[in-house]
Amino acid sequence: MTARKIRGQDSWGSGAWQASRGEDDEGNKIYHNGVDLINKPLNSEVAFCDGEVTKIGYPYSQSPCNPSWSDEKKTKHRRKRNLRYVQITDFQGVKVRLFYIAPSVALHDRVKKGDPIGIAQDLTKIYPADKTHKTAITPHAHIECIIGDGFVEPIEYLNIEVE
Ligand SMILES: [Zn+2]
Repeated sequence: MTARKIRGQDSWGSGAWQASRGEDDEGNKIYHNGVDLINKPLNSEVAFCDGEVTKIGYPYSQSPCNPSWSDEKKTKHRRKRNLRYVQITDFQGVKVRLFYIAPSVALHDRVKKGDPIGIAQDLTKIYPADKTHKTAITPHAHIECIIGDGFVEPIEYLNIEVE
């Protein structure tokens, strides 16, 4: 597998493990539970472990658009609704999730490390350059590892080669 680059700080945040993600509605601080690996939209993404596809999920709410929203907000919400992730459970029972890919695998498929599992989806139209962001988000895939009900740092756990 080729070495990957981790998303550094851009106008929308940093892709580092435990980078700040602001606060929730109750004012609790939110931290990045994974690591962002730079890619290009429409490029192939691969599995980072051997295992079984145990979920093809949605990172964002599937709720319908509110009719009172602007057209721009509705379009953005629809684009977020289309984003997907693939979860592979490895032989230790650890869930490895790769976000923002159009899946090319199906539930219960067995995969090997390095197998293509999807095509990178385009985040730059959802997080573009605008009045408060100098640049669009750096195109990336988000990877996270869940052991029990906690997250672990994925680069070390999965032994991902980074530049
Ligand atoms: Zn991320």
